[in-house]
Amino acid sequence: MTKPNIPVEKNQLIEVTFEDLTHDGAGVAKISGYPLFVPRALPGETGKIKVVKTKKNFGYGRLLEITEESQDRAEPPCPIFERCGGCQLQHLSYEGQLKQKEKYVREVLARIGGLTQVKVHPTIGMDEPWRYRNKAQVPVGEDRGKIIAGFYAERSHRIVDMPSCAIQHELNDDVVQVVKKIAKKYGIRGYDDEKHKGTLRHIVSRHGKTTDELMVVLVTKGKELPNKKNIIEDIRNELPNVKSIVQNMNPKRTNVIFGDKTEVLWGTEVIHDYIGNIKFAISARSFYQVNPVQTKVLYEKALEYADLSGSETVIDAYCGIGTISLFLAKQAKKVLGVEIVPEAISDAKKNAKLNGIENVDFAVGEAEKVMPWWYAQGVRPEVVVVDPPRKGCDESLLETMVNMNPERIVYVSCNPSTLARDLKYLQANGYETKEVQPVDMFPQTNHVECVSQIVLKEEAGTQ
Ligand code: SAH
Repeated sequence: MTKPNIPVEKNQLIEVTFEDLTHDGAGVAKISGYPLFVPRALPGETGKIKVVKTKKNFGYGRLLEITEESQDRAEPPCPIFERCGGCQLQHLSYEGQLKQKEKYVREVLARIGGLTQVKVHPTIGMDEPWRYRNKAQVPVGEDRGKIIAGFYAERSHRIVDMPSCAIQHELNDDVVQVVKKIAKKYGIRGYDDEKHKGTLRHIVSRHGKTTDELMVVLVTKGKELPNKKNIIEDIRNELPNVKSIVQNMNPKRTNVIFGDKTEVLWGTEVIHDYIGNIKFAISARSFYQVNPVQTKVLYEKALEYADLSGSETVIDAYCGIGTISLFLAKQAKKVLGVEIVPEAISDAKKNAKLNGIENVDFAVGEAEKVMPWWYAQGVRPEVVVVDPPRKGCDESLLETMVNMNPERIVYVSCNPSTLARDLKYLQANGYETKEVQPVDMFPQTNHVECVSQIVLKEEAGTQ
Protein backbone atom coordinates (compact mmCIF):
# COMPACT_ATOMS: atom_id res chain seq x y z
CA MET A 1 0.00 0.00 0.00
CA THR A 2 1.38 3.42 -0.84
CA LYS A 3 1.50 6.05 1.83
CA PRO A 4 -0.75 9.01 1.16
CA ASN A 5 1.01 12.24 0.29
CA ILE A 6 0.80 14.94 2.89
CA PRO A 7 -2.24 16.95 1.82
CA VAL A 8 -1.67 19.96 4.08
CA GLU A 9 1.15 22.39 4.77
CA LYS A 10 2.46 23.90 7.93
CA ASN A 11 0.71 27.18 8.85
CA GLN A 12 -2.19 26.43 6.49
CA LEU A 13 -5.60 27.56 7.76
CA ILE A 14 -8.43 25.13 7.05
CA GLU A 15 -11.86 24.19 8.24
CA VAL A 16 -12.21 20.55 9.24
CA THR A 17 -14.72 18.15 10.76
CA PHE A 18 -13.57 15.99 13.64
CA GLU A 19 -14.38 12.28 13.54
CA ASP A 20 -12.68 10.86 16.57
CA LEU A 21 -10.97 11.57 19.86
CA THR A 22 -7.54 10.25 20.84
CA HIS A 23 -6.79 8.82 24.24
CA ASP A 24 -5.06 12.11 25.11
CA GLY A 25 -8.17 14.14 24.42
CA ALA A 26 -7.23 15.50 20.97
CA GLY A 27 -9.80 15.66 18.19
CA VAL A 28 -8.94 13.77 14.99
CA ALA A 29 -9.77 15.21 11.56
CA LYS A 30 -8.86 13.39 8.36
CA ILE A 31 -7.81 15.21 5.20
CA SER A 32 -7.84 12.67 2.33
CA GLY A 33 -7.07 9.97 4.90
CA TYR A 34 -4.24 11.97 6.55
CA PRO A 35 -5.00 12.41 10.28
CA LEU A 36 -4.57 15.73 12.00
CA PHE A 37 -4.59 15.82 15.81
CA VAL A 38 -6.07 18.94 17.33
CA PRO A 39 -6.13 19.41 21.11
CA ARG A 40 -9.50 20.29 22.67
CA ALA A 41 -11.60 19.54 19.58
CA LEU A 42 -14.38 16.97 19.91
CA PRO A 43 -15.84 14.37 17.54
CA GLY A 44 -18.78 15.75 15.55
CA GLU A 45 -17.45 19.29 15.72
CA THR A 46 -16.42 21.47 12.81
CA GLY A 47 -13.75 24.05 13.36
CA LYS A 48 -11.15 26.33 11.85
CA ILE A 49 -7.62 25.18 12.56
CA LYS A 50 -4.06 26.13 11.83
CA VAL A 51 -1.73 23.30 10.85
CA VAL A 52 1.24 23.53 13.22
CA LYS A 53 3.27 20.45 12.35
CA THR A 54 3.27 17.82 9.63
CA LYS A 55 4.91 14.42 9.87
CA LYS A 56 4.97 11.59 7.36
CA ASN A 57 1.82 9.85 8.53
CA PHE A 58 0.04 12.44 10.65
CA GLY A 59 0.08 16.07 11.67
CA TYR A 60 -0.94 18.47 14.43
CA GLY A 61 -3.21 21.48 14.38
CA ARG A 62 -4.33 24.26 16.70
CA LEU A 63 -7.98 24.99 17.17
CA LEU A 64 -8.77 28.60 16.26
CA GLU A 65 -12.54 28.58 16.27
CA ILE A 66 -15.33 26.04 16.63
CA THR A 67 -17.91 26.59 13.90
CA GLU A 68 -20.18 23.73 14.90
CA GLU A 69 -20.17 22.61 18.50
CA SER A 70 -20.69 19.09 19.84
CA GLN A 71 -23.54 18.50 22.28
CA ASP A 72 -20.99 16.80 24.46
CA ARG A 73 -18.91 19.98 24.83
CA ALA A 74 -18.59 21.27 28.38
CA GLU A 75 -17.21 24.52 29.75
CA PRO A 76 -14.05 23.62 31.74
CA PRO A 77 -14.62 25.03 35.23
CA CYS A 78 -10.91 25.26 35.89
CA PRO A 79 -9.22 28.49 34.71
CA ILE A 80 -5.84 26.77 34.24
CA PHE A 81 -7.14 23.68 32.38
CA GLU A 82 -5.34 24.56 29.16
CA ARG A 83 -1.98 25.25 30.76
CA CYS A 84 -1.77 22.69 33.55
CA GLY A 85 -1.82 19.34 31.79
CA GLY A 86 -3.18 17.49 34.84
CA CYS A 87 -6.60 17.03 33.21
CA GLN A 88 -7.17 16.25 29.53
CA LEU A 89 -10.96 16.01 29.29
CA GLN A 90 -12.61 18.88 31.15
CA HIS A 91 -14.00 20.17 27.83
CA LEU A 92 -15.97 16.94 27.37
CA SER A 93 -19.19 16.35 29.34
CA TYR A 94 -18.83 13.74 32.08
CA GLU A 95 -21.20 11.41 30.30
CA GLY A 96 -19.08 11.86 27.18
CA GLN A 97 -15.93 11.03 29.16
CA LEU A 98 -17.42 7.78 30.45
CA LYS A 99 -18.51 6.74 26.94
CA GLN A 100 -15.11 7.67 25.54
CA LYS A 101 -13.31 5.51 28.12
CA GLU A 102 -15.56 2.52 27.41
CA LYS A 103 -14.99 2.90 23.68
CA TYR A 104 -11.24 3.16 24.16
CA VAL A 105 -11.13 -0.03 26.26
CA ARG A 106 -13.21 -1.90 23.69
CA GLU A 107 -11.00 -0.73 20.81
CA VAL A 108 -7.74 -1.58 22.56
CA LEU A 109 -8.95 -5.04 23.59
CA ALA A 110 -9.87 -5.75 19.97
CA ARG A 111 -6.78 -4.20 18.38
CA ILE A 112 -4.08 -5.50 20.74
CA GLY A 113 -5.73 -8.55 22.28
CA GLY A 114 -7.90 -9.70 19.37
CA LEU A 115 -10.72 -9.83 21.91
CA THR A 116 -13.70 -8.74 19.86
CA GLN A 117 -16.30 -10.82 21.68
CA VAL A 118 -15.57 -9.80 25.26
CA LYS A 119 -18.32 -8.04 27.15
CA VAL A 120 -17.17 -4.53 28.08
CA HIS A 121 -19.57 -2.83 30.48
CA PRO A 122 -20.32 0.89 30.51
CA THR A 123 -17.77 2.77 32.64
CA ILE A 124 -18.82 3.20 36.26
CA GLY A 125 -18.50 6.91 36.95
CA MET A 126 -18.81 9.16 39.97
CA ASP A 127 -21.94 11.06 41.04
CA GLU A 128 -19.71 14.05 41.74
CA PRO A 129 -16.68 13.85 39.42
CA TRP A 130 -14.82 16.79 40.98
CA ARG A 131 -12.69 17.31 44.08
CA TYR A 132 -12.14 13.58 44.46
CA ARG A 133 -8.36 13.45 45.07
CA ASN A 134 -7.20 12.73 48.63
CA LYS A 135 -3.58 13.70 48.04
CA ALA A 136 -1.92 16.86 46.72
CA GLN A 137 1.81 17.11 45.97
CA VAL A 138 2.59 20.64 44.96
CA PRO A 139 6.04 21.99 44.01
CA VAL A 140 7.12 25.23 45.68
CA GLY A 141 9.31 27.89 44.12
CA GLU A 142 9.71 31.63 43.85
CA ASP A 143 8.68 34.17 41.31
CA ARG A 144 10.64 37.42 41.64
CA GLY A 145 11.22 36.79 45.33
CA LYS A 146 7.61 35.80 46.01
CA ILE A 147 6.86 32.24 47.14
CA ILE A 148 4.61 30.30 44.76
CA ALA A 149 3.19 26.76 44.68
CA GLY A 150 1.42 25.14 41.79
CA PHE A 151 2.27 23.05 38.77
CA TYR A 152 5.06 22.92 36.20
CA ALA A 153 4.24 24.72 32.97
CA GLU A 154 4.22 22.36 30.02
CA ARG A 155 7.64 20.93 29.12
CA SER A 156 9.45 23.14 31.63
CA HIS A 157 10.61 23.52 35.20
CA ARG A 158 8.83 26.82 35.61
CA ILE A 159 6.26 26.68 38.39
CA VAL A 160 2.92 28.36 37.74
CA ASP A 161 1.16 29.46 40.91
CA MET A 162 -2.16 27.69 41.44
CA PRO A 163 -4.92 29.05 43.67
CA SER A 164 -7.08 25.91 43.50
CA CYS A 165 -7.34 22.54 41.78
CA ALA A 166 -10.81 21.40 40.69
CA ILE A 167 -10.17 17.67 41.18
CA GLN A 168 -8.52 18.10 44.57
CA HIS A 169 -10.36 17.81 47.89
CA GLU A 170 -11.07 21.34 49.22
CA LEU A 171 -9.06 20.71 52.37
CA ASN A 172 -5.97 19.81 50.33
CA ASP A 173 -6.39 23.09 48.47
CA ASP A 174 -6.65 24.86 51.82
CA VAL A 175 -3.44 23.24 53.07
CA VAL A 176 -1.50 24.46 50.06
CA GLN A 177 -2.77 28.04 50.36
CA VAL A 178 -2.33 28.18 54.16
CA VAL A 179 1.21 26.79 54.08
CA LYS A 180 2.11 29.22 51.31
CA LYS A 181 0.80 32.10 53.39
CA ILE A 182 2.62 30.97 56.54
CA ALA A 183 5.87 30.43 54.63
CA LYS A 184 5.57 33.98 53.33
CA LYS A 185 4.91 35.31 56.84
CA TYR A 186 8.11 33.77 58.19
CA GLY A 187 10.23 34.46 55.15
CA ILE A 188 10.73 30.79 54.25
CA ARG A 189 12.39 30.59 50.84
CA GLY A 190 10.90 28.53 48.03
CA TYR A 191 13.22 26.00 46.39
CA ASP A 192 15.13 26.88 43.22
CA ASP A 193 15.83 23.61 41.40
CA GLU A 194 18.38 25.14 39.02
CA LYS A 195 20.56 26.63 41.74
CA HIS A 196 19.61 23.89 44.25
CA LYS A 197 18.92 26.62 46.82
CA GLY A 198 16.04 27.54 49.12
CA THR A 199 14.15 25.70 51.85
CA LEU A 200 10.66 24.48 50.97
CA ARG A 201 10.52 22.08 48.00
CA HIS A 202 7.04 20.58 48.11
CA ILE A 203 3.82 20.86 50.08
CA VAL A 204 2.14 17.47 50.36
CA SER A 205 -1.33 17.17 51.80
CA ARG A 206 -3.20 13.94 52.54
CA HIS A 207 -6.82 13.69 53.53
CA GLY A 208 -8.74 10.74 55.00
CA LYS A 209 -12.09 10.90 53.23
CA THR A 210 -14.07 9.02 55.86
CA THR A 211 -12.29 10.43 58.94
CA ASP A 212 -11.73 13.98 57.61
CA GLU A 213 -8.21 13.87 59.06
CA LEU A 214 -5.45 15.87 57.42
CA MET A 215 -1.71 15.33 57.20
CA VAL A 216 0.57 18.17 56.18
CA VAL A 217 4.01 17.26 54.88
CA LEU A 218 6.65 19.93 54.38
CA VAL A 219 9.37 18.65 52.10
CA THR A 220 12.49 20.69 52.74
CA LYS A 221 15.97 20.71 51.24
CA GLY A 222 17.71 20.23 54.58
CA LYS A 223 16.92 19.76 58.22
CA GLU A 224 16.67 23.48 58.79
CA LEU A 225 13.22 25.02 58.97
CA PRO A 226 13.34 28.48 60.60
CA ASN A 227 10.48 29.37 62.95
CA LYS A 228 9.40 25.74 63.13
CA LYS A 229 7.39 26.21 66.34
CA ASN A 230 5.46 29.18 65.00
CA ILE A 231 4.80 27.43 61.71
CA ILE A 232 3.35 24.42 63.52
CA GLU A 233 1.17 26.62 65.69
CA ASP A 234 -0.11 28.63 62.74
CA ILE A 235 -0.91 25.49 60.74
CA ARG A 236 -2.85 24.07 63.69
CA ASN A 237 -4.76 27.30 64.17
CA GLU A 238 -5.70 27.70 60.55
CA LEU A 239 -6.43 24.04 59.76
CA PRO A 240 -8.33 22.42 62.63
CA ASN A 241 -8.54 19.05 60.83
CA VAL A 242 -4.79 18.57 60.91
CA LYS A 243 -3.80 15.48 62.89
CA SER A 244 -0.25 15.17 61.67
CA ILE A 245 2.46 17.64 60.65
CA VAL A 246 5.54 16.04 59.17
CA GLN A 247 8.83 17.25 57.74
CA ASN A 248 10.54 15.24 55.06
CA MET A 249 14.08 16.12 54.08
CA ASN A 250 15.26 15.79 50.52
CA PRO A 251 18.80 17.17 50.07
CA LYS A 252 19.30 15.71 46.58
CA ARG A 253 19.25 17.37 43.17
CA THR A 254 16.33 15.37 41.86
CA ASN A 255 12.74 15.68 40.78
CA VAL A 256 11.76 12.80 43.05
CA ILE A 257 9.55 14.43 45.70
CA PHE A 258 10.53 12.67 48.92
CA GLY A 259 13.89 12.20 50.58
CA ASP A 260 14.78 9.35 52.91
CA LYS A 261 14.32 11.13 56.24
CA THR A 262 10.93 11.93 57.76
CA GLU A 263 10.33 13.56 61.12
CA VAL A 264 7.00 14.08 62.86
CA LEU A 265 6.85 17.75 63.92
CA TRP A 266 3.49 17.55 65.65
CA GLY A 267 0.69 15.02 66.15
CA THR A 268 0.64 11.46 64.91
CA GLU A 269 2.81 9.69 62.37
CA VAL A 270 -0.20 8.48 60.40
CA ILE A 271 -3.75 9.48 59.55
CA HIS A 272 -6.53 6.96 58.96
CA ASP A 273 -9.12 6.26 56.33
CA TYR A 274 -11.66 3.51 55.69
CA ILE A 275 -12.50 1.75 52.47
CA GLY A 276 -15.71 -0.09 53.23
CA ASN A 277 -15.19 -1.29 56.78
CA ILE A 278 -11.44 -1.75 56.49
CA LYS A 279 -9.28 0.79 58.23
CA PHE A 280 -6.00 1.99 56.75
CA ALA A 281 -3.11 3.82 58.36
CA ILE A 282 -1.53 6.25 55.93
CA SER A 283 1.94 7.69 56.52
CA ALA A 284 3.61 10.51 54.58
CA ARG A 285 5.05 8.19 51.96
CA SER A 286 2.56 5.29 51.89
CA PHE A 287 1.05 4.36 48.60
CA TYR A 288 -2.72 4.74 48.85
CA GLN A 289 -5.26 5.03 46.06
CA VAL A 290 -6.04 8.70 45.37
CA ASN A 291 -9.76 8.36 44.72
CA PRO A 292 -11.22 6.64 47.79
CA VAL A 293 -14.85 6.69 46.57
CA GLN A 294 -14.06 4.84 43.35
CA THR A 295 -11.50 2.59 45.02
CA LYS A 296 -14.36 1.05 46.97
CA VAL A 297 -16.30 0.56 43.72
CA LEU A 298 -13.26 -1.04 42.09
CA TYR A 299 -12.50 -3.39 44.98
CA GLU A 300 -16.13 -4.42 45.33
CA LYS A 301 -16.10 -5.37 41.66
CA ALA A 302 -12.86 -7.31 42.17
CA LEU A 303 -14.48 -9.11 45.11
CA GLU A 304 -17.58 -9.89 43.04
CA TYR A 305 -15.41 -11.29 40.22
CA ALA A 306 -13.36 -13.33 42.72
CA ASP A 307 -16.66 -15.01 43.68
CA LEU A 308 -15.39 -16.34 47.01
CA SER A 309 -17.19 -18.82 49.26
CA GLY A 310 -14.78 -18.79 52.20
CA SER A 311 -12.83 -21.93 51.37
CA GLU A 312 -10.41 -20.47 48.82
CA THR A 313 -6.74 -19.69 48.87
CA VAL A 314 -6.22 -16.42 47.01
CA ILE A 315 -3.05 -14.77 45.72
CA ASP A 316 -3.00 -10.96 45.47
CA ALA A 317 -0.04 -10.12 43.25
CA TYR A 318 1.25 -6.52 43.19
CA CYS A 319 -0.60 -5.98 46.45
CA GLY A 320 0.81 -2.55 47.50
CA ILE A 321 -0.24 -1.90 51.11
CA GLY A 322 -2.55 -4.90 50.98
CA THR A 323 -5.74 -3.03 50.22
CA ILE A 324 -7.26 -5.68 47.95
CA SER A 325 -5.83 -8.52 50.07
CA LEU A 326 -7.62 -7.26 53.19
CA PHE A 327 -10.80 -6.70 51.22
CA LEU A 328 -10.69 -10.33 50.04
CA ALA A 329 -9.51 -11.88 53.32
CA LYS A 330 -12.86 -11.73 55.06
CA GLN A 331 -14.37 -13.97 52.40
CA ALA A 332 -11.47 -16.33 51.75
CA LYS A 333 -9.67 -19.04 53.71
CA LYS A 334 -6.25 -17.51 53.11
CA VAL A 335 -4.79 -14.62 51.14
CA LEU A 336 -1.16 -14.38 50.06
CA GLY A 337 0.02 -10.94 48.95
CA VAL A 338 3.24 -10.09 47.16
CA GLU A 339 4.72 -6.67 46.48
CA ILE A 340 8.15 -5.32 45.52
CA VAL A 341 8.33 -2.28 47.87
CA PRO A 342 9.35 -3.32 51.42
CA GLU A 343 7.70 -0.28 53.10
CA ALA A 344 4.39 -1.13 51.42
CA ILE A 345 4.54 -4.68 52.82
CA SER A 346 5.32 -3.30 56.26
CA ASP A 347 2.19 -1.10 55.93
CA ALA A 348 0.21 -4.10 54.69
CA LYS A 349 1.16 -6.10 57.79
CA LYS A 350 0.27 -3.19 60.07
CA ASN A 351 -3.06 -2.74 58.33
CA ALA A 352 -3.88 -6.43 58.72
CA LYS A 353 -3.18 -6.12 62.45
CA LEU A 354 -5.17 -2.89 62.72
CA ASN A 355 -8.20 -4.77 61.40
CA GLY A 356 -7.60 -7.99 63.32
CA ILE A 357 -7.24 -9.93 60.06
CA GLU A 358 -5.08 -13.02 60.53
CA ASN A 359 -5.58 -15.13 57.43
CA VAL A 360 -3.18 -13.06 55.29
CA ASP A 361 0.53 -13.45 54.60
CA PHE A 362 2.61 -10.86 52.82
CA ALA A 363 5.90 -11.37 50.98
CA VAL A 364 8.37 -8.79 49.70
CA GLY A 365 9.75 -9.45 46.24
CA GLU A 366 9.12 -9.44 42.53
CA ALA A 367 5.81 -11.14 41.91
CA GLU A 368 7.32 -12.98 38.93
CA LYS A 369 9.92 -14.55 41.25
CA VAL A 370 7.81 -15.13 44.36
CA MET A 371 4.94 -16.79 42.47
CA PRO A 372 7.14 -19.62 41.06
CA TRP A 373 8.55 -20.10 44.55
CA TRP A 374 5.04 -20.45 45.99
CA TYR A 375 4.21 -22.81 43.14
CA ALA A 376 7.21 -24.96 44.00
CA GLN A 377 6.01 -25.03 47.63
CA GLY A 378 2.75 -26.52 46.42
CA VAL A 379 0.58 -23.40 46.63
CA ARG A 380 -2.47 -23.91 44.39
CA PRO A 381 -4.82 -20.93 44.71
CA GLU A 382 -8.40 -21.13 43.51
CA VAL A 383 -8.31 -17.42 42.68
CA VAL A 384 -5.46 -15.11 41.64
CA VAL A 385 -5.83 -11.34 41.66
CA VAL A 386 -3.28 -9.20 39.83
CA ASP A 387 -3.04 -5.40 39.91
CA PRO A 388 0.21 -4.63 38.08
CA PRO A 389 1.74 -1.23 37.26
CA ARG A 390 1.33 0.25 33.77
CA LYS A 391 3.71 -2.18 32.09
CA GLY A 392 1.41 -5.08 32.93
CA CYS A 393 2.37 -8.58 34.05
CA ASP A 394 5.69 -10.17 33.31
CA GLU A 395 5.14 -13.11 30.94
CA SER A 396 6.83 -15.47 33.37
CA LEU A 397 4.24 -14.46 35.97
CA LEU A 398 1.42 -15.26 33.55
CA GLU A 399 3.06 -18.61 32.86
CA THR A 400 3.27 -19.48 36.56
CA MET A 401 -0.28 -18.33 37.08
CA VAL A 402 -1.51 -20.64 34.33
CA ASN A 403 0.49 -23.51 35.84
CA MET A 404 -1.18 -22.90 39.18
CA ASN A 405 -4.43 -23.57 37.36
CA PRO A 406 -6.74 -21.26 39.37
CA GLU A 407 -10.45 -21.36 38.61
CA ARG A 408 -10.66 -17.62 38.34
CA ILE A 409 -8.31 -14.72 37.70
CA VAL A 410 -9.24 -11.14 38.52
CA TYR A 411 -7.12 -8.65 36.61
CA VAL A 412 -7.15 -5.04 37.84
CA SER A 413 -5.42 -2.81 35.31
CA CYS A 414 -4.56 0.86 34.93
CA ASN A 415 -3.46 0.40 31.31
CA PRO A 416 -5.84 -1.14 28.75
CA SER A 417 -2.99 -1.83 26.28
CA THR A 418 -1.01 -4.13 28.55
CA LEU A 419 -4.27 -5.61 29.86
CA ALA A 420 -5.18 -6.55 26.27
CA ARG A 421 -1.74 -8.09 25.67
CA ASP A 422 -1.96 -10.16 28.88
CA LEU A 423 -5.56 -11.27 28.25
CA LYS A 424 -4.46 -12.47 24.82
CA TYR A 425 -1.81 -14.66 26.47
CA LEU A 426 -4.34 -16.05 28.93
CA GLN A 427 -6.84 -16.67 26.13
CA ALA A 428 -4.20 -18.73 24.30
CA ASN A 429 -3.42 -20.69 27.47
CA GLY A 430 -6.68 -22.14 28.63
CA TYR A 431 -8.47 -19.09 30.04
CA GLU A 432 -11.34 -17.02 28.84
CA THR A 433 -12.07 -13.38 29.62
CA LYS A 434 -15.70 -13.21 30.66
CA GLU A 435 -16.16 -9.52 31.21
CA VAL A 436 -14.33 -6.24 31.60
CA GLN A 437 -15.59 -3.43 33.82
CA PRO A 438 -14.05 0.02 33.31
CA VAL A 439 -14.15 2.15 36.47
CA ASP A 440 -13.50 5.87 36.38
CA MET A 441 -10.89 6.41 39.07
CA PHE A 442 -9.64 9.67 37.54
CA PRO A 443 -12.50 11.84 36.21
CA GLN A 444 -11.46 14.73 33.90
CA THR A 445 -8.24 12.90 32.99
CA ASN A 446 -7.63 10.35 30.26
CA HIS A 447 -6.83 7.53 32.68
CA VAL A 448 -9.07 4.50 32.88
CA GLU A 449 -8.95 1.59 35.27
CA CYS A 450 -10.45 -1.82 34.42
CA VAL A 451 -11.29 -4.91 36.37
CA SER A 452 -11.68 -8.14 34.42
CA GLN A 453 -12.94 -11.58 35.23
CA ILE A 454 -11.09 -14.45 33.58
CA VAL A 455 -12.11 -18.08 34.05
CA LEU A 456 -10.70 -21.50 33.24
CA LYS A 457 -12.12 -22.54 29.87
CA GLU A 458 -13.31 -26.00 31.00
CA GLU A 459 -15.22 -24.42 33.83
CA ALA A 460 -16.76 -21.95 31.45
CA GLY A 461 -17.96 -24.89 29.34
CA THR A 462 -19.80 -26.56 32.20
CA GLN A 463 -21.57 -23.45 33.43
N1 SAH B 1 -3.12 -3.42 44.61
C1 SAH B 1 -2.60 -2.22 45.21
C2 SAH B 1 -1.44 -1.58 44.44
C3 SAH B 1 -1.47 -1.59 42.95
S1 SAH B 1 -0.26 -0.57 42.17
C4 SAH B 1 -3.71 -1.23 45.44
O1 SAH B 1 -4.78 -1.35 44.87
O2 SAH B 1 -3.53 -0.30 46.22
C5 SAH B 1 0.93 -1.73 41.61
C6 SAH B 1 1.90 -2.18 42.67
O3 SAH B 1 2.81 -3.10 42.09
C7 SAH B 1 2.75 -1.07 43.27
O4 SAH B 1 2.59 -1.09 44.66
C8 SAH B 1 4.20 -1.45 42.86
O5 SAH B 1 5.15 -1.15 43.85
C9 SAH B 1 4.09 -2.94 42.68
N2 SAH B 1 5.07 -3.60 41.79
C10 SAH B 1 5.65 -3.11 40.67
N3 SAH B 1 6.41 -4.05 40.08
C11 SAH B 1 6.30 -5.18 40.83
C12 SAH B 1 6.84 -6.50 40.72
N4 SAH B 1 7.64 -6.84 39.70
N5 SAH B 1 6.50 -7.40 41.66
C13 SAH B 1 5.68 -7.08 42.68
N6 SAH B 1 5.15 -5.84 42.83
C14 SAH B 1 5.45 -4.90 41.93
